Amino acid sequence: MHTRVLRVDPVIPEPAVLAEAASVLRRGGLVAFPTETVYGLGANASDPDAVARIFRAKGRPAGNPLIVHVAAKDQAQELTSEWPEAADRLSARFWPGPLTLVLLRNPRVPDIVTAGGATVALRVPAHPVALALLRTVHTPLAAPSANRSSHLSPTRPEHVRRSLDGRIDLLLDAGSTTGGVESTVLDVSTSPPRLLRPGLISPAQIEAVVGPIQRLASPAGGALRSPGLLARHYAPTAPLECVNVDAAARVEALCRTGMRVGWLTFTGAELAHLPELRRIMMPSDVTAYAAEMYAALHSLDEAGVERIIVTMPPDTEEWLAVRDRLRRASSGPI
Ligand code: AMP
Ligand code: MG
Repeated sequence: MHTRVLRVDPVIPEPAVLAEAASVLRRGGLVAFPTETVYGLGANASDPDAVARIFRAKGRPAGNPLIVHVAAKDQAQELTSEWPEAADRLSARFWPGPLTLVLLRNPRVPDIVTAGGATVALRVPAHPVALALLRTVHTPLAAPSANRSSHLSPTRPEHVRRSLDGRIDLLLDAGSTTGGVESTVLDVSTSPPRLLRPGLISPAQIEAVVGPIQRLASPAGGALRSPGLLARHYAPTAPLECVNVDAAARVEALCRTGMRVGWLTFTGAELAHLPELRRIMMPSDVTAYAAEMYAALHSLDEAGVERIIVTMPPDTEEWLAVRDRLRRASSGPI
């Protein structure tokens, strides 16, 4: 059976649509909904059976905890056993918004949500549909990205449908999401706070509020505190290579072997003569790049390319989250 799709206004969501989605969620169903980062796959976070359906629909390993979305700070506090000052300041500054805070959990949070861990990841999303849905349903929603595990994140409703059609109960279609890259994940159960996954909120923005934070641990070193640190994640079907220097030469060499190649680049007319090449011009502005990145990779997958080459953006903090996702999408060493 196909998944039911309901159109919803991205700015002023229709109350009847929200009520329908809330009723599906209250019955233990799965609803994909837009957030300001990517589409999320929501279930009632206080219902372990509903949350188990998320893991089944995505094929997600049980050891990978979920982010819980809440309507406001007080709802977040009910799910924690400690609320440090850093959480207070950061939530006041960035919620609603794309910052996920990892905190010591309250025992009432089901184990399946936290993968049995002592912490829970929480955020208040800023997308009007996500926020209105949370206010309508009156329960926290566990919501990872609405895609099969380890695949590309969805920024458009058709991405969700391609990945999860028939496996979830309802998709709220509000068009493209605006942010494009997943939330920043920051552990505030430790002092100083520790960045677990770079995202739309930069380390500099966070440090302006709480002072110095610990930067990303090397993915190779020690136990993984955050599953978002897995080396390969967010990956397209075709092998992807990140190239820092002279990507055009690499693209040309691959095309010469007869391979169908997709190329994310910044430059104009280079290699325009190669018929097998699908070249996608990416914006040089980081915000626009982030918003378009997953859709560009989805379109290359759909076109059936055999290899994807990415001309890497500069190695500056501004591009931290985009470079992080591109490296994780790559098949080579990171
Ligand atoms: P996604 O699968 O795209 O929803 O990403 C969920 C991310 O949330 C994971 O990759 C982790 O980085 C993070 N996360 C969720 N819960 C926790 C937690 N308790 N501790 C640390 N990170 C968490
Ligand atoms: Mg995901």
